Amino acid sequence: MRGTVELSVVHSDIEKMIVTEDELKVRVAELARAIESDYDGRDLLLVGVLKGAIMAMADLSRALQRHIDMDWMAVSSYGSGTKSSGVVRILKDLDRDITGRDVLIVEDIVDSGLTLSWLKSNLESRGAKSVEILAILRKPEAAKVDVNVKYVGFNIPTDFVVGYGLDFDEKYRNLPFVGVLAKHMYA
Ligand code: 5GP
Repeated sequence: MRGTVELSVVHSDIEKMIVTEDELKVRVAELARAIESDYDGRDLLLVGVLKGAIMAMADLSRALQRHIDMDWMAVSSYGSGTKSSGVVRILKDLDRDITGRDVLIVEDIVDSGLTLSWLKSNLESRGAKSVEILAILRKPEAAKVDVNVKYVGFNIPTDFVVGYGLDFDEKYRNLPFVGVLAKHMYA
């Protein structure tokens, strides 16, 4: 079935659109201008968190009118369910030493904040000069954990969302917008 699903069928699994393609484009450009100004005169290393941050990294890095380095990490998150476990495991580590580097973690979404809070301390403990976080989406739960997300794309409700890199069971990452997955898809 996978290879033959029509785009309209994929879209029918989406209950409602939360952030449109245009809104993402505009907001990512705004964030890029803020980052250019905040990191003026400093080396910047973007660390994308696989796989959800692929679209954000691709768009943000191209919107940045300056040199950047890019690296990637993969950490465990939801698996194929829809609830955060809080258990973080490194599946793929950085390729380079980050001692003395200004690091900006690029993440798709901050929900409980557990993953990012752990990741930030992990990178700080490696001797980075600074570690900040950019999350395209932030859910209200994020307020409960003391993790400072410096750059937020959009604050969204608690619903389980897919698209723009976010998956459900590895599908829907390629949707160019962010939408709420219809409950019948996972209930
Ligand atoms: P946290 O530790 O902040 O609860 O969860 C972080 C990770 O959970 C994210 O990187 C993402 O992979 C996953 N996640 C949280 N909320 C959602 C959601 O609404 N949709 C999807 N697809 N993944 C989510």
